[in-house]
Amino acid sequence: SKVPNITLNNGVEMPQLGYGVWQVPDDQAEASVVTAIESGYRSIDTAAVYANEEGTGKGIAASGVAREELFVTTKLWNGDQGYDSTLRAFDTSLSKLGLDYVDLYLIHWPLPSRGTYVDSWKAFEKIYADGRAKAIGVSNFLPEHLRTLVKETSVVPAVNQIELHPWLQQGESRAAHAEHGIATEAWSPLGQGKGVLEDATIAELARKHDRTPAQIVLRWHLQLGNVMIPKSVTPSRIRENIALFDFELDEADLATLAGLDAGRRLGPDPATFEMGA
Ligand code: NAD
Repeated sequence: SKVPNITLNNGVEMPQLGYGVWQVPDDQAEASVVTAIESGYRSIDTAAVYANEEGTGKGIAASGVAREELFVTTKLWNGDQGYDSTLRAFDTSLSKLGLDYVDLYLIHWPLPSRGTYVDSWKAFEKIYADGRAKAIGVSNFLPEHLRTLVKETSVVPAVNQIELHPWLQQGESRAAHAEHGIATEAWSPLGQGKGVLEDATIAELARKHDRTPAQIVLRWHLQLGNVMIPKSVTPSRIRENIALFDFELDEADLATLAGLDAGRRLGPDPATFEMGA
Protein backbone atom coordinates (compact mmCIF):
# COMPACT_ATOMS: atom_id res chain seq x y z
CA SER A 1 0.00 0.00 0.00
CA LYS A 2 1.12 3.56 -0.66
CA VAL A 3 -0.17 4.91 2.65
CA PRO A 4 2.66 6.90 4.23
CA ASN A 5 3.58 6.45 7.89
CA ILE A 6 4.10 9.25 10.33
CA THR A 7 6.66 8.83 13.11
CA LEU A 8 5.15 9.30 16.57
CA ASN A 9 7.07 11.09 19.35
CA ASN A 10 8.37 7.74 20.69
CA GLY A 11 9.67 6.56 17.30
CA VAL A 12 6.73 4.25 16.51
CA GLU A 13 5.49 4.42 12.91
CA MET A 14 1.75 4.90 12.39
CA PRO A 15 -0.05 4.71 9.01
CA GLN A 16 -1.52 8.10 8.15
CA LEU A 17 -4.74 6.46 6.92
CA GLY A 18 -6.65 3.85 8.88
CA TYR A 19 -10.08 2.26 8.98
CA GLY A 20 -12.53 3.29 11.72
CA VAL A 21 -15.24 0.88 12.90
CA TRP A 22 -17.56 3.05 15.03
CA GLN A 23 -21.18 1.90 14.48
CA VAL A 24 -20.11 -1.28 12.68
CA PRO A 25 -22.07 -4.08 14.42
CA ASP A 26 -19.90 -6.76 16.04
CA ASP A 27 -21.19 -9.44 13.66
CA GLN A 28 -20.26 -7.31 10.62
CA ALA A 29 -16.91 -6.07 11.89
CA GLU A 30 -15.00 -9.20 10.83
CA ALA A 31 -16.06 -8.90 7.17
CA SER A 32 -15.55 -5.11 7.09
CA VAL A 33 -12.08 -5.34 8.62
CA VAL A 34 -11.10 -8.10 6.17
CA THR A 35 -12.32 -5.93 3.24
CA ALA A 36 -10.34 -2.97 4.55
CA ILE A 37 -7.14 -4.97 5.01
CA GLU A 38 -7.55 -6.57 1.56
CA SER A 39 -7.96 -3.05 0.15
CA GLY A 40 -4.60 -1.99 1.60
CA TYR A 41 -5.48 -0.51 5.01
CA ARG A 42 -3.04 -1.55 7.74
CA SER A 43 -4.44 0.51 10.63
CA ILE A 44 -7.74 -0.25 12.40
CA ASP A 45 -9.42 2.04 14.95
CA THR A 46 -11.90 0.56 17.44
CA ALA A 47 -12.91 1.26 21.05
CA ALA A 48 -14.33 -0.66 23.99
CA VAL A 49 -17.59 1.30 23.71
CA TYR A 50 -18.04 0.38 20.02
CA ALA A 51 -18.82 -3.16 21.28
CA ASN A 52 -17.07 -4.67 18.26
CA GLU A 53 -13.59 -5.49 19.54
CA GLU A 54 -14.35 -9.23 19.16
CA GLY A 55 -15.47 -8.91 15.53
CA THR A 56 -12.56 -6.57 14.82
CA GLY A 57 -10.13 -9.10 16.30
CA LYS A 58 -11.66 -11.86 14.19
CA GLY A 59 -11.15 -9.73 11.08
CA ILE A 60 -7.52 -9.11 12.02
CA ALA A 61 -6.97 -12.85 12.51
CA ALA A 62 -8.81 -13.76 9.28
CA SER A 63 -6.98 -11.18 7.15
CA GLY A 64 -3.89 -13.31 6.76
CA VAL A 65 -1.68 -10.23 7.24
CA ALA A 66 1.01 -10.62 9.90
CA ARG A 67 0.26 -8.94 13.22
CA GLU A 68 3.43 -6.84 13.07
CA GLU A 69 2.31 -5.31 9.77
CA LEU A 70 -0.93 -4.06 11.34
CA PHE A 71 -1.53 -1.07 13.60
CA VAL A 72 -4.41 -1.61 16.03
CA THR A 73 -5.93 1.13 18.17
CA THR A 74 -8.51 0.76 20.92
CA LYS A 75 -9.80 3.14 23.61
CA LEU A 76 -10.60 3.22 27.31
CA TRP A 77 -14.29 3.89 27.93
CA ASN A 78 -15.38 6.65 30.30
CA GLY A 79 -16.81 4.41 33.03
CA ASP A 80 -13.46 2.64 33.35
CA GLN A 81 -11.35 5.71 34.13
CA GLY A 82 -9.20 5.47 37.28
CA TYR A 83 -5.92 3.57 37.86
CA ASP A 84 -7.06 0.02 38.70
CA SER A 85 -10.17 0.08 36.53
CA THR A 86 -8.07 1.20 33.55
CA LEU A 87 -5.74 -1.78 33.97
CA ARG A 88 -8.75 -4.12 34.15
CA ALA A 89 -10.44 -2.53 31.12
CA PHE A 90 -7.23 -2.86 29.09
CA ASP A 91 -7.05 -6.60 29.87
CA THR A 92 -10.66 -6.99 28.73
CA SER A 93 -9.99 -5.13 25.47
CA LEU A 94 -6.90 -7.22 24.70
CA SER A 95 -8.75 -10.44 25.36
CA LYS A 96 -11.75 -9.41 23.21
CA LEU A 97 -9.39 -8.44 20.39
CA GLY A 98 -7.52 -11.73 20.82
CA LEU A 99 -4.20 -9.84 20.87
CA ASP A 100 -1.26 -9.68 23.26
CA TYR A 101 -0.55 -6.00 22.53
CA VAL A 102 -2.15 -3.01 20.82
CA ASP A 103 -0.23 -0.45 18.83
CA LEU A 104 -2.07 2.50 20.35
CA TYR A 105 -4.28 2.81 23.44
CA LEU A 106 -6.27 6.03 23.87
CA ILE A 107 -8.21 7.65 26.73
CA HIS A 108 -11.51 8.15 24.88
CA TRP A 109 -12.70 11.40 26.57
CA PRO A 110 -11.16 13.69 29.20
CA LEU A 111 -14.25 14.00 31.49
CA PRO A 112 -12.68 17.11 33.05
CA SER A 113 -15.24 17.42 35.85
CA ARG A 114 -14.54 13.82 36.99
CA GLY A 115 -10.85 14.60 37.44
CA THR A 116 -9.72 11.01 36.73
CA TYR A 117 -7.71 11.37 33.54
CA VAL A 118 -4.36 11.85 35.30
CA ASP A 119 -4.80 8.60 37.30
CA SER A 120 -5.97 6.82 34.15
CA TRP A 121 -2.89 8.12 32.33
CA LYS A 122 -0.62 6.72 35.07
CA ALA A 123 -2.14 3.29 34.34
CA PHE A 124 -1.49 3.94 30.63
CA GLU A 125 2.17 4.62 31.47
CA LYS A 126 2.33 1.23 33.24
CA ILE A 127 0.74 -0.55 30.23
CA TYR A 128 3.24 1.21 27.95
CA ALA A 129 6.22 0.35 30.18
CA ASP A 130 5.09 -3.30 30.08
CA GLY A 131 5.10 -3.22 26.25
CA ARG A 132 1.42 -4.07 25.99
CA ALA A 133 0.71 -0.83 24.10
CA LYS A 134 3.44 0.31 21.68
CA ALA A 135 2.20 3.89 22.04
CA ILE A 136 -0.30 5.65 24.30
CA GLY A 137 -2.40 8.69 23.57
CA VAL A 138 -5.64 10.51 24.20
CA SER A 139 -8.79 11.49 22.37
CA ASN A 140 -10.94 14.59 22.63
CA PHE A 141 -8.44 16.34 24.92
CA LEU A 142 -8.53 20.13 24.82
CA PRO A 143 -5.20 22.01 24.99
CA GLU A 144 -5.68 22.64 28.74
CA HIS A 145 -6.05 18.89 29.41
CA LEU A 146 -2.88 18.18 27.42
CA ARG A 147 -1.00 20.80 29.44
CA THR A 148 -2.15 19.15 32.69
CA LEU A 149 -0.91 15.72 31.54
CA VAL A 150 2.42 17.13 30.40
CA LYS A 151 2.86 18.88 33.76
CA GLU A 152 1.74 16.04 36.05
CA THR A 153 2.95 12.84 34.33
CA SER A 154 6.07 11.57 32.53
CA VAL A 155 5.00 10.28 29.10
CA VAL A 156 3.78 12.88 26.57
CA PRO A 157 0.78 11.48 24.62
CA ALA A 158 1.80 10.25 21.16
CA VAL A 159 -1.56 11.15 19.60
CA ASN A 160 -4.68 13.22 20.26
CA GLN A 161 -7.63 11.91 18.23
CA ILE A 162 -10.14 14.74 17.77
CA GLU A 163 -13.11 15.66 15.59
CA LEU A 164 -11.58 17.31 12.53
CA HIS A 165 -12.97 17.95 9.05
CA PRO A 166 -13.28 20.95 6.71
CA TRP A 167 -16.04 22.52 8.85
CA LEU A 168 -14.04 22.09 12.10
CA GLN A 169 -10.35 22.57 11.32
CA GLN A 170 -9.15 22.77 14.94
CA GLY A 171 -6.38 25.35 14.52
CA GLU A 172 -5.92 25.86 18.26
CA SER A 173 -5.58 22.14 19.02
CA ARG A 174 -3.26 21.57 16.07
CA ALA A 175 -0.98 24.35 17.35
CA ALA A 176 -0.97 22.84 20.87
CA HIS A 177 -0.14 19.42 19.41
CA ALA A 178 2.76 20.86 17.40
CA GLU A 179 4.10 22.52 20.54
CA HIS A 180 4.18 19.20 22.45
CA GLY A 181 5.11 16.84 19.56
CA ILE A 182 1.68 15.17 19.60
CA ALA A 183 0.29 13.76 16.32
CA THR A 184 -3.15 15.01 15.28
CA GLU A 185 -5.57 12.22 14.37
CA ALA A 186 -8.88 13.20 12.74
CA TRP A 187 -12.09 11.45 13.75
CA SER A 188 -15.14 11.88 11.54
CA PRO A 189 -12.66 13.02 8.86
CA LEU A 190 -15.50 13.06 6.29
CA GLY A 191 -17.83 14.94 8.61
CA GLN A 192 -19.80 11.70 9.17
CA GLY A 193 -20.97 11.85 5.56
CA LYS A 194 -23.46 14.57 6.55
CA GLY A 195 -23.25 17.89 4.73
CA VAL A 196 -19.50 18.20 4.32
CA LEU A 197 -19.55 15.82 1.35
CA GLU A 198 -22.37 17.88 -0.25
CA ASP A 199 -20.53 21.18 0.22
CA ALA A 200 -20.58 23.05 -3.14
CA THR A 201 -16.95 24.18 -2.83
CA ILE A 202 -15.80 20.60 -2.30
CA ALA A 203 -17.96 19.42 -5.21
CA GLU A 204 -16.23 22.01 -7.40
CA LEU A 205 -12.79 20.71 -6.39
CA ALA A 206 -13.99 17.15 -7.02
CA ARG A 207 -14.92 18.12 -10.60
CA LYS A 208 -11.61 19.92 -11.09
CA HIS A 209 -9.59 16.83 -10.07
CA ASP A 210 -12.03 14.23 -11.43
CA ARG A 211 -12.30 12.71 -7.93
CA THR A 212 -15.12 12.22 -5.44
CA PRO A 213 -15.80 14.74 -2.64
CA ALA A 214 -14.66 12.13 -0.09
CA GLN A 215 -11.33 11.79 -1.90
CA ILE A 216 -10.84 15.57 -1.95
CA VAL A 217 -11.45 15.78 1.81
CA LEU A 218 -9.19 12.82 2.63
CA ARG A 219 -6.42 14.13 0.36
CA TRP A 220 -6.67 17.47 2.23
CA HIS A 221 -6.12 15.68 5.56
CA LEU A 222 -3.09 13.85 4.14
CA GLN A 223 -1.49 17.03 2.84
CA LEU A 224 -2.10 18.74 6.20
CA GLY A 225 -0.22 15.91 7.93
CA ASN A 226 -3.22 14.55 9.84
CA VAL A 227 -3.70 10.90 10.65
CA MET A 228 -7.28 9.95 9.67
CA ILE A 229 -9.62 7.00 10.03
CA PRO A 230 -12.61 7.23 7.64
CA LYS A 231 -15.40 4.70 8.16
CA SER A 232 -17.57 2.92 5.62
CA VAL A 233 -19.07 -0.57 5.46
CA THR A 234 -19.52 -0.35 1.68
CA PRO A 235 -16.64 -2.18 -0.04
CA SER A 236 -16.53 0.25 -3.00
CA ARG A 237 -16.26 3.22 -0.60
CA ILE A 238 -13.67 1.45 1.57
CA ARG A 239 -11.57 1.20 -1.63
CA GLU A 240 -12.42 4.73 -2.79
CA ASN A 241 -11.24 6.15 0.54
CA ILE A 242 -7.73 4.72 0.12
CA ALA A 243 -7.35 5.66 -3.58
CA LEU A 244 -5.67 8.96 -2.76
CA PHE A 245 -2.13 8.60 -3.97
CA ASP A 246 -2.27 9.56 -7.65
CA PHE A 247 -3.39 13.17 -7.39
CA GLU A 248 -2.49 16.25 -5.39
CA LEU A 249 -4.25 19.39 -4.23
CA ASP A 250 -2.43 22.61 -5.12
CA GLU A 251 -1.86 25.67 -2.91
CA ALA A 252 -5.00 27.38 -4.22
CA ASP A 253 -7.12 24.28 -3.47
CA LEU A 254 -5.71 24.14 0.07
CA ALA A 255 -6.49 27.82 0.58
CA THR A 256 -10.04 27.27 -0.69
CA LEU A 257 -10.54 24.39 1.76
CA ALA A 258 -9.06 26.44 4.62
CA GLY A 259 -11.83 28.93 3.94
CA LEU A 260 -14.53 26.36 4.83
CA ASP A 261 -13.63 26.34 8.54
CA ALA A 262 -16.78 27.19 10.49
CA GLY A 263 -15.88 25.91 13.97
CA ARG A 264 -18.85 23.58 13.56
CA ARG A 265 -18.88 20.46 15.75
CA LEU A 266 -20.95 17.44 14.68
CA GLY A 267 -20.09 15.48 17.84
CA PRO A 268 -20.09 16.31 21.56
CA ASP A 269 -18.11 19.07 23.25
CA PRO A 270 -15.21 17.51 25.19
CA ALA A 271 -15.52 20.16 27.92
CA THR A 272 -18.90 18.78 29.01
CA PHE A 273 -19.33 15.26 27.54
CA GLU A 274 -19.70 12.68 30.33
CA MET A 275 -21.59 9.75 28.76
CA GLY A 276 -21.04 6.48 30.61
CA ALA A 277 -18.96 8.11 33.35
P1 NAD B 1 -16.62 9.63 8.89
O1 NAD B 1 -16.31 11.07 8.78
O2 NAD B 1 -15.54 8.65 8.65
O3 NAD B 1 -17.87 9.36 7.97
C1 NAD B 1 -18.39 8.07 7.82
C2 NAD B 1 -19.67 8.12 7.00
O4 NAD B 1 -19.43 8.85 5.80
C3 NAD B 1 -20.10 6.74 6.56
O5 NAD B 1 -20.94 6.15 7.53
C4 NAD B 1 -20.82 7.01 5.25
O6 NAD B 1 -22.15 7.41 5.53
C5 NAD B 1 -20.06 8.19 4.69
N1 NAD B 1 -19.01 7.82 3.74
C6 NAD B 1 -17.85 7.15 3.97
N2 NAD B 1 -17.12 7.05 2.85
C7 NAD B 1 -17.82 7.68 1.89
C8 NAD B 1 -17.57 7.91 0.51
N3 NAD B 1 -16.46 7.49 -0.08
N4 NAD B 1 -18.52 8.59 -0.19
C9 NAD B 1 -19.65 9.03 0.41
N5 NAD B 1 -19.94 8.84 1.70
C10 NAD B 1 -19.02 8.16 2.44
O7 NAD B 1 -17.30 9.44 10.34
P2 NAD B 1 -17.12 8.54 11.62
O8 NAD B 1 -17.46 7.14 11.40
O9 NAD B 1 -17.84 9.30 12.68
O10 NAD B 1 -15.57 8.67 11.98
C11 NAD B 1 -14.59 7.75 11.52
C12 NAD B 1 -13.99 6.99 12.64
O11 NAD B 1 -13.48 7.88 13.64
C13 NAD B 1 -14.98 6.13 13.43
O12 NAD B 1 -15.32 4.95 12.75
C14 NAD B 1 -14.21 5.90 14.70
O13 NAD B 1 -13.23 4.90 14.50
C15 NAD B 1 -13.55 7.26 14.91
N6 NAD B 1 -14.33 8.13 15.84
C16 NAD B 1 -13.77 8.44 17.04
C17 NAD B 1 -14.44 9.25 17.94
C18 NAD B 1 -13.79 9.60 19.23
O14 NAD B 1 -14.46 10.14 20.11
N7 NAD B 1 -12.53 9.30 19.43
C19 NAD B 1 -15.71 9.77 17.62
C20 NAD B 1 -16.26 9.45 16.38
C21 NAD B 1 -15.55 8.65 15.49
